[in-house]
Amino acid sequence: MIELDGAAGEGGGQILRSALTLAMITGQPFRIRNIRANRTKPGLMRQHLVAVEAALQVCGGEAAGAALGSQDLTFVPGPVKGGDYAFAIGTAGSCTLVLQAVLPVLLKADKPSTLRLAGGTHNPMAPPVQFLQRAWCPRLAEMGAHIDIRLERFGFYPAGGGVVEARVEPCTELRPRTWMGRGERRAAYAEAFVAGVPERVALRELECVGQALHWHEDQLLVRSLPANQGPGNALMLTLEYDHATEVFTAFGEKSFSSERVAHQAVQRTRQYLESRAAFAEYLADQMMLPLALAGGGGFTLDEVSMHARTNAQVIETFLPVCFAFDRQDGIDSCTVAGR
Ligand code: AMP
Repeated sequence: MIELDGAAGEGGGQILRSALTLAMITGQPFRIRNIRANRTKPGLMRQHLVAVEAALQVCGGEAAGAALGSQDLTFVPGPVKGGDYAFAIGTAGSCTLVLQAVLPVLLKADKPSTLRLAGGTHNPMAPPVQFLQRAWCPRLAEMGAHIDIRLERFGFYPAGGGVVEARVEPCTELRPRTWMGRGERRAAYAEAFVAGVPERVALRELECVGQALHWHEDQLLVRSLPANQGPGNALMLTLEYDHATEVFTAFGEKSFSSERVAHQAVQRTRQYLESRAAFAEYLADQMMLPLALAGGGGFTLDEVSMHARTNAQVIETFLPVCFAFDRQDGIDSCTVAGR
């Protein structure tokens, strides 16, 4: 039984999600204590509980301590079964984080699978669905994994109510891959999504982005959604390059000005633009587990976060791999190799 400390390193939900994914893939049971100890509301939240329940359905295993608020969970995986699955998070808990916990496992199934999730699709502290579609899935496709993600209905925090569906083709072996540079820029655009929020909020956000990044009107897009998919507002900046796509998102909140939302998204985008790295922090986080499953590979990144270092430790506990973070000529890199 692998023993994990949920308070280690960054002490967030990733420790649990990576453990669930890797337990199912490797067949190794684990026990985790101090779940999400470093978060303001520690323990299992709806999103984490649904990830555990989804894992149990996908592999028919057993779990002890799977309850809201629980800080101690034991998980014993069974054999992975492909098929059609549906899960409702029931709040605005992130659908994308649950998807990311289960999708790598379904690549190992003996037949194609579909996963339908209801809950939050656009939450602070989680990848928005477009991040998975534009930034994550294309990189996995380059490793041989084909995952198609469809956003049926937006679900913003705190109302939730979104629906997302993923289709996964089995992939017997993920191919190692390296992304050292991003290549030439192919496109850059900003989208301001508004649902049940006045369009002038979107226009003001886009105006701020245009001024700050010197982007042309054609690059600034208002995306008005039906009011019943809100209330919600997300400002999303997408940068497409030859070898990588990045998506930087900031969320509107009642007390936030449009300027503040735009400033957040622009700041993160600028950090990436000023570096030569292939990936920014979040994509880096999310590519570590697939690369470890492939047994090797790497990328340059614009920031090595505590989240990434913590994830590396969890992955190394389950798989015979070793991560290395390095800095050369002013650029950070992350590589993983078999040990
Ligand atoms: P945790 O806080 O440990 O539950 O992990 C959160 C996960 O969400 C990490 O994999 C982050 O890379 C990812 N994430 C958080 N915010 C964003 C964002 N705005 N865009 C893309 N990914 C994000």
